[in-house]
Amino acid sequence: MNGSLQGRVKAVLIVEDSGVQRAHLASLLQLLGVGRVHQAANGAEALALLETLTELPDAMVIDLHMPVMDGVELIQHLQARDLRIPFVVASTRESTLVSAVLEMARAHGQQVSRAAHKPLTLEVLSEALADCLQAPADRHDGQLVCVQPSQLALAIERGAIQPYFQPKVDVRSGLIRGVEALARWSDDAAGPVTPDRFIPVAEAEGLIHALTLSVLQQAVTRVAGWQARGLTLSVAVNLSPKLLDSSRLVGEIDAIVQGARIRPEQLVLEVTENALISCEGLALGTLARLRMAGYGLSIDDYGTGFSSMQQLARVPFTELKIDRSFVHGAHANEHLRVMLQSSIEMASRLGLTSVAEGVESLDDWAWLHRYGCDVGQGWLIGRAMPGDELPAWLRSHQARLAELRSAPFTRPAAASGPHSI
Ligand code: C2E
Ligand code: MG
Ligand code: MG
Repeated sequence: MNGSLQGRVKAVLIVEDSGVQRAHLASLLQLLGVGRVHQAANGAEALALLETLTELPDAMVIDLHMPVMDGVELIQHLQARDLRIPFVVASTRESTLVSAVLEMARAHGQQVSRAAHKPLTLEVLSEALADCLQAPADRHDGQLVCVQPSQLALAIERGAIQPYFQPKVDVRSGLIRGVEALARWSDDAAGPVTPDRFIPVAEAEGLIHALTLSVLQQAVTRVAGWQARGLTLSVAVNLSPKLLDSSRLVGEIDAIVQGARIRPEQLVLEVTENALISCEGLALGTLARLRMAGYGLSIDDYGTGFSSMQQLARVPFTELKIDRSFVHGAHANEHLRVMLQSSIEMASRLGLTSVAEGVESLDDWAWLHRYGCDVGQGWLIGRAMPGDELPAWLRSHQARLAELRSAPFTRPAAASGPHSI
């Protein structure tokens, strides 16, 4: 029995068409002390089962070849439903095929533990489950199910949903250009709660309008405060597609921006690529009016959606924000590099600012330099932080400029002085 796992993995879903393999896995999981073992014979059964559960399993073991709905299709459905449950792929197939599937899943932000050859041994399964436990903490778990609309409404009203700010820096010079406001629910007991837990609830319960205006108001107030201290930045705010059908939205944003006395160019509104698919009529009009008012418009998570060129061309965007799945790890994967480079080139040809999100390492940064990306954002530069921590971050960032500027492939830095605040 694996002591480190004991009691930590409470529930696992096995998706496997062979009854023999299911029974084998179930007995191994029992030996590992997993309390609840759910079973499904194919992807469709697994999805149906997940809908009935009040708490999502901690991990899944997914077979690839299954009738009705295979493992690849299941992974795509999990992605489409934003169900980020860490999983292990159990297969007998060749490693190139399995790694293509893992790559696909990772590119879509899924937390894949590893591939394991069938039949799994106790040791391999226990290691794979331990990997699942180490998956980043932003996965959906019981707490998502627990966010009550009434609690959320109260939190918005009390200003407990606050923007954290993640720096966006110029790839040529390393200097800060702006920040992205990312909503956090400041819950004293649990620490800051990430938006994947409450944005879907806000969207479903008609609270997203109030939430967005509150985040926007706090974000532009911060930007005005920094400006008063000599630091002019732009701020990006995420707009849910649900808001675009509101004819009040543009007037409300105008009032907030004018009230804070910042220029419209200092506000960038991010809309995900996927939101554009159903964007027509009123929503297109809203985007056009936002642009007419002078705000920047960004295509967020570019590369993960299913929009067509035609859909993209209908909206007057100013910025292309390349999804982090094409940025982090590009140095080690030629396919990702091709997509990264072509996205940057497309942005440049269309006169859009290219922004790469998810810059986690100096290797990622070096490729952005090489491909001529305009702006980078990611943990290498800085994580999202409360507004009052930005001055200290800026000071430490000044000390890192030399390191960023000397990254491999670096072109000469732009001739502009360091910022201070
Ligand atoms: P997004 O707009 O694409 O934001 C980027 C997400 O990537 C943020 O997660 C950020 O913390 C994370 N991130 C930044 N750098 C790195 C990195 O180097 N590596 C990795 N792995 N991740 C990185 P966060 O804050 O959890 O936000 C998740 C999503 O929630 C956002 O994705 C956005 O779509 C949504 N969201 C956040 N705030 C709001 C809001 O006020 N309104 C609406 N409608 N959606 C919001
Ligand atoms: Mg965004
Ligand atoms: Mg994004």
